[in-house]
Amino acid sequence: MQNVVRDVACTVCGCVCDDLIVTTDAGRIVRADGACALAEPWFAAQGRSQRPVSCVDGTETDLASAVQAAADILSSSSLPLLYGLSRSSTPGQRAAIALGDRLGGIVDTTASRCHAPSIMALQQVGESTCSLGEVRQRSDVVVYWGANPLRSHPRHLERYAGEPEGTFVPRGRADRHIVVVDPNATETAAIADTHLQVAPGRDFELLWDLRARLAGQTDDVSPAHGIPAEQVDAFAERIRAARYGIVFFGLGLTRGTVGHQDVEALLLMVRDAHRHTRWSARRMRIPGDVAGADSVLCWQTGFPFSVDLSRGYPRYNPGEFSANELLERGDVDACLLLGCDGLGQFSDAAMKRLESIPTIVFDDATVETAWTPSVRFTTAAYGMHLPGTAYRMDEVPIPLRPVLESDCPSDEEILQQIAARLEG
Ligand code: SF4
Repeated sequence: MQNVVRDVACTVCGCVCDDLIVTTDAGRIVRADGACALAEPWFAAQGRSQRPVSCVDGTETDLASAVQAAADILSSSSLPLLYGLSRSSTPGQRAAIALGDRLGGIVDTTASRCHAPSIMALQQVGESTCSLGEVRQRSDVVVYWGANPLRSHPRHLERYAGEPEGTFVPRGRADRHIVVVDPNATETAAIADTHLQVAPGRDFELLWDLRARLAGQTDDVSPAHGIPAEQVDAFAERIRAARYGIVFFGLGLTRGTVGHQDVEALLLMVRDAHRHTRWSARRMRIPGDVAGADSVLCWQTGFPFSVDLSRGYPRYNPGEFSANELLERGDVDACLLLGCDGLGQFSDAAMKRLESIPTIVFDDATVETAWTPSVRFTTAAYGMHLPGTAYRMDEVPIPLRPVLESDCPSDEEILQQIAARLEG
């Protein structure tokens, strides 16, 4: 018999759209209205795989034995790494950090290979924030800087920043001017009102040129960015004349050789714009609950990623305590992956090391690993089989409601069982 669940939240990307209507039948999702092209494969895959709940060295094992094997690996490790967290939810993230604390290990999230430079910039200069609800109701100038949401967050424009009619933008798209700053002719640039094709790696120069013009200086401060002066002037004027402006910035800005300084320049430019009108800046977060992983790690340790707990108190040092670099240097001798998201961003050397040390993998039934982990747990997915909370890219917590049943335990349950079996 078919069952229809309304107001389902999708956790595939940081938009966390919570207006989906999902139809299930015989343990499968047969329809997901509102799911974009990025989300459809995730919903369609649910219920297909009958992966065992627990395996040790690739062989199906009862849960208690697998939990014991994981506890043995972690107990004998001198420095374990706990990585991922962004496909989990608050309860699983909290349990993983508690386990890392108990072990004296290092906890890092997918942010360390993603928006880490942005976080470091935010720590330097602060952030002028807003919710996506404010963007929807108020924004009349929307800038996507180094981001291509039509591909990475397909419903971002439809739900928040492009088409929606809002209290102060009653005609929706007709009341908004969309600017894309990107060296590439992306899908989003094609539908934008203005595309500033900045020279690759020259965002910093363009941002400082804009800052100078916002401060009333009109010389060519740095033509190296490749945008003609009259276009930069027009952009500065549009920033000044906006009633409510928002800059969404993505990995195209953060992944430069000086990504944190590029983001710092952007945040300073937004701060300058406040001399004239209201502007905010927000990150285009990629995985569904990476903002939750930052938030939970922050309220547990005081730091958002790359946290070393080996001395009995938290220490934060991106690079030194970041998963990719720890693996490249061979500093860690066991790894617990709470979700395999983010492994695609690791270097070859880091992956080689990861595949050579004992690994404990938690993920849902749809995920394959390129190697055979020492222990693998198939967990129920939050927002699919379990209730939970996902933090949207604007850090607004969105409740997750389950749509399917699952025999698999939650990651929180298994992490707590492992903690209970640790030696000492
Ligand atoms: S935009 Fe993101 S959250 Fe919304 S339906 Fe698509 S993948 Fe899911």
